[in-house]
Amino acid sequence: MAKSNIEWTEMTWNPTTGCSKISQGCKFCYAEIMSKRLQAMGVQKYKDNFSVRTHDEALMIPYLWKKPKVVFVNSMSDLFHEDVPIEFIEKVFTVMNENPQHVFQVLTKRSERLFELHNKLKWTTNIWMGVSVEDDKVKDRIDFLRKTNAKVKFLSLEPLIGPLPNLNLQNIDWVIVGGESGQNPRAMAPEWVIDIQEQCQEWDTAFFFKQWGGKKKKKNGRELNGKIYNEMPKINYL
Ligand code: SF4
Repeated sequence: MAKSNIEWTEMTWNPTTGCSKISQGCKFCYAEIMSKRLQAMGVQKYKDNFSVRTHDEALMIPYLWKKPKVVFVNSMSDLFHEDVPIEFIEKVFTVMNENPQHVFQVLTKRSERLFELHNKLKWTTNIWMGVSVEDDKVKDRIDFLRKTNAKVKFLSLEPLIGPLPNLNLQNIDWVIVGGESGQNPRAMAPEWVIDIQEQCQEWDTAFFFKQWGGKKKKKNGRELNGKIYNEMPKINYL
């Protein structure tokens, strides 16, 4: 468990670690860079660097938090990666089901596997399920997400590397947008962001603008149209 600097969450919990690249959004994967660093520092959990590993000992952690938390699940991995056994995914869901005081934000790029397994999982309202969509080529991830039984559904459009016109946001509760940062960030055009914000308004979907990104991420900030968009899902659990 670790406090997080990510604007849309409070902390991270990593019952699995490691992953492999699947689409353009993975090009400068933060988890891969961090895993290497943690391995070099001798952190046991990362001894196998970025290979997919499950961590039974991490499953107890959410039971120990005294106050309700908003938690990003697997910032260092992808829970629906093909190398994570269904039995372990079920264990992670049991932990989330048994801790309704916490909100768990699960984000995947493996939307097909998510859809394949969703009927075997119990979707309590504290599990927010999201898919990452970085450009038009992987837009079908949204349709797989929409067809799941998740009660709260969201999109992470980060790093946004292409325009996303004509999104179908039906039953999508929340959209996060962010530009790439780091040494060689791919550019995000302001008109792509403005278009997505307008689409969210039309669909009555909460919109969260995380960052412009770029080489000077802090300086570039997160203002859009002269304001900060920090909207969170408007949840109707019924
Ligand atoms: S899916 Fe996520 S964690 Fe896995 S390689 Fe891609 S960006 Fe990294």
